[in-house]
Amino acid sequence: MKNLKSYPHNSIDVHLNAVKRKNASDSKENLIHIENNVRKDYLDYDVHFSENDIENIPKRQFYIPFKLDLQSLYNFQSKTIIDVRGHIEKLQERTIRYTCQNCTINSANTLDHVLPQGEFPEFIVNPKNLFPCCSQCNSYKNKYLESNGIKLFLNLYLDNLPNEQYLFVKFEFDDNNEIDFEYFLFNKYEINVDTFALIKSHFEKLYLLERMRLKANEDYSEIENLILCGLNKLSIDFIFDEIKQNIINDQKAYGFNHWKCVLKLALINDDRFKKYIQEKRTKA
Ligand SMILES: [Zn+2]
Repeated sequence: MKNLKSYPHNSIDVHLNAVKRKNASDSKENLIHIENNVRKDYLDYDVHFSENDIENIPKRQFYIPFKLDLQSLYNFQSKTIIDVRGHIEKLQERTIRYTCQNCTINSANTLDHVLPQGEFPEFIVNPKNLFPCCSQCNSYKNKYLESNGIKLFLNLYLDNLPNEQYLFVKFEFDDNNEIDFEYFLFNKYEINVDTFALIKSHFEKLYLLERMRLKANEDYSEIENLILCGLNKLSIDFIFDEIKQNIINDQKAYGFNHWKCVLKLALINDDRFKKYIQEKRTKA
């Protein structure tokens, strides 16, 4: 999971261009009629964005009669959205550009409306309100606030991720001597309690611990095969040292608490794993 760079240009231009591209219709007339309101509210969004408190932006009754007109501006296949999506993608490092950073598991094949489009139709094409996201995460994000006004999800444009380990994995061998993983969150290094609570909520609402467990079980064989293959020429300690070095690079590229880095770290720091590999090697 890594923070993404947000759209650096004037967000309102995206809205104005989307309106301009619409064919002449009553809907277009309505949108032109409310343009000054939208302009003002985009500026308000920017102020809250710079303070990282967009959850305090009020729902505006004014837009209720224009909801359908505003929603007609958003079409995933439209030039407006393709351009915005391409622009946001290009801002990001290549290593994370196409992966959903909400989960770091799937491809970012949709855009999530951070403030939901149903309640905030005025921001339907606001690029700062659009976050690259996989359809699975997107489907779990039907609510953005708890009833007490507390945020449910990280906004990875704004909520800076700590560079301390908060995601861990433990593993056990089952009756067939196969490894099974279990991810958990633990505030071992005492990161800010509010930040940790938000991370915890984000993980819970997106079912990340279980999704990461499945992904780890899926990808584990690749790690094991690579080590066993390396043992034809190299010592196990040498290979583990190489993996350790590799983890540091991967943490920089994919995020300090990326599920795969955490997985490799747990394996090579556990003597049971070394023994397991050596036994496998002898049997092979
Ligand atoms: Zn996702």
